[in-house]
Amino acid sequence: MKDIAKKSNTMYLLDKYQLKASKKYGQNFLIDLNTIKKIVEITHIDKQTCVIEIGPGIGALTEQLSYRAGKVLCFEIDTRLKDVLKESIGEFDNIEIIFQDFLTVDLKKVVDELKQTYSKVCVVANLPYYITSDIIEHIITSSPQLDSIHAMVQKEVALKLTDENYKSPLIYMIESVGTISLDMNVSRTVFSPAPHVDSAIISIHIKREYNQKLTYVLKCAFTQKRKTIYNNLKDIFDNTKDVLHQCGIDEKLRPEQLKIEDYIKLTQFI
Ligand code: SAM
Repeated sequence: MKDIAKKSNTMYLLDKYQLKASKKYGQNFLIDLNTIKKIVEITHIDKQTCVIEIGPGIGALTEQLSYRAGKVLCFEIDTRLKDVLKESIGEFDNIEIIFQDFLTVDLKKVVDELKQTYSKVCVVANLPYYITSDIIEHIITSSPQLDSIHAMVQKEVALKLTDENYKSPLIYMIESVGTISLDMNVSRTVFSPAPHVDSAIISIHIKREYNQKLTYVLKCAFTQKRKTIYNNLKDIFDNTKDVLHQCGIDEKLRPEQLKIEDYIKLTQFI
């Protein structure tokens, strides 16, 4: 089917397959072709790129990605979408759909294989909002040889993730591998059903491999956000005061006052 995102095409497909958007799976389908084309522009993909799409839904974004990418590999959790996806994008020979929860995908293995054929591999997704953070964390901590991530998230989340004065374990994880930017605001009116909030597209450009020890250090450091870094870390090292001193970190700082470089230094003592 051409231009699946046109409202008339989306409605035809949802109607024909009696599909009610599932709240459980965070389904809000894009129904505006212009918005989708702008998202595709942001990704800078070309025929040497393989896109991994999380949650193709009924294929609206997938279709437009497939015109520009070498391949689109999709992971979709909702098996009810099998028939509709067969009708909407079944004819495209550069699209592959795997029905699997993305959080259970061995992403490192998948990307390693794709990198043998494609010079660039990136993730593009209109993310289900209920697991936005889990998905971004899963991607980063899997340490794949990915080039970039382009994701639609709630606007509020996009603003937090790109606010230099706000810190969380996820933000430090992102900082440790590359850079993040807010690229485009998206109105709630271009989805069906329309969510209660507006959205935004964020891009993460990956430049470095993830340090696996960082997850543990960050989780411990943020056990109690109001406590000092010393109090949060005092049980994970034999002599925490000494470790903090060797890293040049003031023991009275709160976890969100440290720089990513401080956390990287701390991983060397794990
Ligand atoms: N890409 C479509 C679009 O833009 O119209 C649909 C986006 S909708 C916000 C989120 C999609 O992610 C749905 O198709 C949903 O079924 C799927 N999804 C939700 N949880 C998932 C998971 N854990 N793994 C894979 N797909 C998931």
